[in-house]
Amino acid sequence: MTFNLLAALPIILPKAVAWAEEQSALIAQNGQPLDVSLVGIAQRVGVSRPDQIRILEVPQLPLPGDPELRQAALSTGLLGPGMVGLTLGYSIYICHGHGTVRLLSHEFRHVYQYESAGSIASFLPVYLGQIATVGYQRAPLEVDARAHEIHHA
Ligand SMILES: [Zn+2]
Repeated sequence: MTFNLLAALPIILPKAVAWAEEQSALIAQNGQPLDVSLVGIAQRVGVSRPDQIRILEVPQLPLPGDPELRQAALSTGLLGPGMVGLTLGYSIYICHGHGTVRLLSHEFRHVYQYESAGSIASFLPVYLGQIATVGYQRAPLEVDARAHEIHHA
């Protein structure tokens, strides 16, 4: 049985934005700023304010407490077991042991996308709309992030 994200989106979106803003604030307080080489990588993928980025390493990505939001996150694969990074504005979760240049450059490109959108509240409707219509792999914002991955620093 598949979860119909497109149908659920109007209800999910405000909850997703609230959750993302809350997690982003938590990372902003507890995360680490980039070292000089990571600042360079963030700049290479287009980030304007790499000094704003914070990274928090976690054993696994957190799941929303809200049951509907949790189901949406799991069924789309966004917060599924295969996921090792998540970018929410300038805040990035990385699972322990996965902080490679390749993954970080991918997540930094998402930071650039948030900068272009202007805020979490303006990015997420576009991003989740893409996931709901063409799926995670083919979502243009994911294709763009993959295209900007740096494989060797
Ligand atoms: Zn991505």
